[in-house]
Amino acid sequence: MPKLRANAKIVATLGPASSDPETVRALYDAGAAVFRINFSHGAREDHRARIRAVRAVEREARRPIGIMADLQGPKIRIGEFAAGPVDLVEGAVFRFDRDPAPGAAGRVCLPHPEVYRAVAPGQQMLVDDGRLRLEIADCSNSHIAATVLAGGPLGDRKGVNLPGAVLPLSAMTEKDRTDLSFALDQGVDWIALSFVQRPDDVAELRTLAGNRASVLAKIEKPAALDNLAQIVDLADAVMVARGDLGVELPPEEVPSVQKRIVRTCRAAGKPVIVATQMLESMVAAPTPTRAEATDVANAVYEGADAVMLSAETAVGRHAVRSVDVMSRIVRRTEADPAWRRFIDAGEAAPDPTASDAITTAARQVADTVGAAAIVTYTMSGSTALRASRARPAAPILCLTGSDRTARKLVLVWGVSCFFSHDASSVEEMVDYAVDMAKTHGFAGPGQPIVITAGMPFGTPGATNLLRIAWVGG
Ligand code: PEP
Repeated sequence: MPKLRANAKIVATLGPASSDPETVRALYDAGAAVFRINFSHGAREDHRARIRAVRAVEREARRPIGIMADLQGPKIRIGEFAAGPVDLVEGAVFRFDRDPAPGAAGRVCLPHPEVYRAVAPGQQMLVDDGRLRLEIADCSNSHIAATVLAGGPLGDRKGVNLPGAVLPLSAMTEKDRTDLSFALDQGVDWIALSFVQRPDDVAELRTLAGNRASVLAKIEKPAALDNLAQIVDLADAVMVARGDLGVELPPEEVPSVQKRIVRTCRAAGKPVIVATQMLESMVAAPTPTRAEATDVANAVYEGADAVMLSAETAVGRHAVRSVDVMSRIVRRTEADPAWRRFIDAGEAAPDPTASDAITTAARQVADTVGAAAIVTYTMSGSTALRASRARPAAPILCLTGSDRTARKLVLVWGVSCFFSHDASSVEEMVDYAVDMAKTHGFAGPGQPIVITAGMPFGTPGATNLLRIAWVGG
């Protein structure tokens, strides 16, 4: 029987360490289900080659693979200094202004007029990935005077984060718009949006992407947390982007925020990815720290749909091994008898819809008869998403006539997707489901499977049928 994938999926970022087709194939074989192309780094030709490599592996493996284009989003940066880095001393006041002259001890240009309008005294300014921390003492349309709380050297063009402010900026720069149009032309499945502050940011991307790709909101700013429910509602999936989130929030806030985001997404039935620094030490070392292994396992116990590797696979010395290690941690965690209790603890009640009535019943029927698989026929993917929301013990085998749906669903907890034609009768559908479950190693002779579908076939959102079938000898 072919090896079944784990319930929680792995997203691997491609980069200089993982661009050639052989490495992409090895990452896929080690357990990566979705590949992320990070538009913060690399040239267009690199991205094109990586996307091509993934599609080549997909053709070879004859299984859908997801590709996510991650847009950079705006970066707020200071200008340059006249004579190299300056020292910010704790307790001293440092000034940011709009004067383009090179910086010196005591001041530097911050060439973003919108920032001055959005900040207020008492708010924090974090500079250079949060290494330097200041509190705004006084500000106007053209300057910010801030007291240094945590000091150190400050060099040219370092990034600035303003966790207390909602900046009047679109989450997409001109570069992002060009990258988006390129990514859509390349046929990527997901567009990940950085710098989401408000629900409108997600709505704007949705309008631009149309129905050409699914939309993933990266939660990395405290402002997004204030609007979490609406953002989750508008997005097709969400990422707990702990890199930037960890700059904008104190470290002790990150674990509970992660749990809140995962809980909200699970309740809404939206896939959620836990990302960044999961196996960070494997960028250089062949094994992770035990704390990192526990971090991956905790995301799996929370019921996250996917865990993600960034630098580990993009620039790390042990790219394939990182996926292999992550895959082992996921499988071992899901084999823990206590894991099911954690998963069930996060279960949300069904919505009062026909689709939820069928998918929750499917889980219960599957448990009662000990079904080897739940087979869902889906066109838009929504039935498979709702089936996954119920986090059943049986694997979800999703049959769809849409390439796009199949590639989108590989990110989703517990779902394995296969391309299928529409059936012309219920009997044909049942026979085909049994055949697929058997051929792909989900069910053996004599085992029951549970089938859900919508009648008439191919109508999105029409799930209204539940059948039990037995695999023949
Ligand atoms: C993050 O901030 O955690 C993240 C995934 O985004 P990026 O890699 O763009 O920083």
